[in-house]
Amino acid sequence: MKGYMLIGGKRVFKKEEIEITFPYDNSLVGTIPRGDEKDAELAVEAAELGFKKLKEMTPYDRFRALERAARLLSRRSKEFAQLLTLEVGKTIKEAMGEVGRAVNTITLSAEEAKRVLGEEVRFDAAPGVKGKVGFYRRVPLGVIGCITPFNFPLNLTCHKVAPALAAGNSVVIKPSENTSLTVIKLAELLIEAGFPPEAVNVITGYGEEVGDALVRNEKVRMITFTGSVETGKVIMKRGGLKKYAMELGSNAGVYVDSDQREKLSLIAQKVALGGFTLAGQVCISVQRVFVHKDLYEDFLEKLCAFTQRLKVGDPRREDVDVGPVIDKGAADRIMEWIEEAVSLGGEVACGGRRLGETLIEPTVLKGVPRQAKVVSKEVFGPVIVVNQVSSLEEAIEAINDSPYGLQAGIFTNSLKGALKFSEEVECGGIMVNEIPTFRVDQMPYGGVKESGIGREGPKFAIEEMTEIKTICFDSSF
Ligand code: NAD
Repeated sequence: MKGYMLIGGKRVFKKEEIEITFPYDNSLVGTIPRGDEKDAELAVEAAELGFKKLKEMTPYDRFRALERAARLLSRRSKEFAQLLTLEVGKTIKEAMGEVGRAVNTITLSAEEAKRVLGEEVRFDAAPGVKGKVGFYRRVPLGVIGCITPFNFPLNLTCHKVAPALAAGNSVVIKPSENTSLTVIKLAELLIEAGFPPEAVNVITGYGEEVGDALVRNEKVRMITFTGSVETGKVIMKRGGLKKYAMELGSNAGVYVDSDQREKLSLIAQKVALGGFTLAGQVCISVQRVFVHKDLYEDFLEKLCAFTQRLKVGDPRREDVDVGPVIDKGAADRIMEWIEEAVSLGGEVACGGRRLGETLIEPTVLKGVPRQAKVVSKEVFGPVIVVNQVSSLEEAIEAINDSPYGLQAGIFTNSLKGALKFSEEVECGGIMVNEIPTFRVDQMPYGGVKESGIGREGPKFAIEEMTEIKTICFDSSF
């Protein structure tokens, strides 16, 4: 597919192009234009016009257009899933799952379009004020820049674009240079569903070029970003006075309590799925597992038994469970981190081999010291570290010993323990008797510490993407 930018509804091509390749075998999937500062400027200008045009649409119109977009996407599920598999390298099963979630995210946003509400303000509750009545409303910001990562190009873009449109904002999307083709198709679908072409723009290219120009543009009122902590920090330094929503990385932790012997197989299975889905390239992948010492060896045995049954290979095949990581550079880094963990005293419990340029066996490491990168940083690959602890308190301390705080999980029968864990663990979401990888698209989702700022989930994203306007009448004048 020859990709293009979408600026004010027009397809824009450039001489200089970037190749998009299939992570499994490096074959060519398509190309995208290498956009520059001027393209970002033109897209923002178009979006300013788009914002004006959106004002002509009532909340009901926006609801209808989003509903229609969800239906169109649902009808074209297979086509979108196949492209996702080629761009991201995720298995066809995972790709179908992502399309289903994207349909849901758009539908949820459609519903929220009718509920962008304010409330009455009691002006006369201040001393000496009489006869003043009024309210506040939530109004759209204007042009929102949406910068998205490679791992869920469809659903994570929907998490930004659908709530933005629901609230009446126009958007300029800058997708990952690895996975832009899916996003271009999504933008066209939104326009086909009824949004003004100027309201949904896509610029493609490198983050440091066209992405940076979008971030620095003063007419952009908000940047909603999902990606790595490093990029998030750069964006907030350069973007100046605007709003920011930051959905960043993590090294999610989970604790398995001593009273979980009966459920150990099921927990091991959940942990393996949480750690190896999308070859571990999920921001809430299970990365650090802390198991009570009484169950440690049994848990490792069950986890490895399940892990070794996972089929690794060509993600286009229906029977494959784990596909490649995004590129050779990522695979090199992950293998280096595994080697470092072993050199610092950790052991490979299962896996650990590289099966191809971008294929890594699902790997379980044990007894890895905290300073190892596979513990202290975000692996973003198919690696789970299992360490033993002697108490809930030790598990909480270990989970909190991280710069990140997106989600954490605990498996326990103790209500008191679960409450203590949910109060003391510093994360945006706590899953009790569930892995930290659990997410449904309507829940408030986002991190604390270096995992981010703000919450997504259409209702909550709309709060971030609107501002309050206060209106006061003097009824006695
Ligand atoms: P990345 O930070 O490398 O890139 C993300 C996007 O930012 C891309 O579109 C890139 O082109 C753009 N970009 C890069 N430099 C930029 C700059 N200077 N200015 C503007 N834009 C710039 O991330 P990635 O490798 O695509 O994705 C993986 C990361 O995303 C992981 O850290 C993962 O945890 C995180 N992530 C977080 C969530 C969440 O919801 N918290 C979800 C998915 C992924």
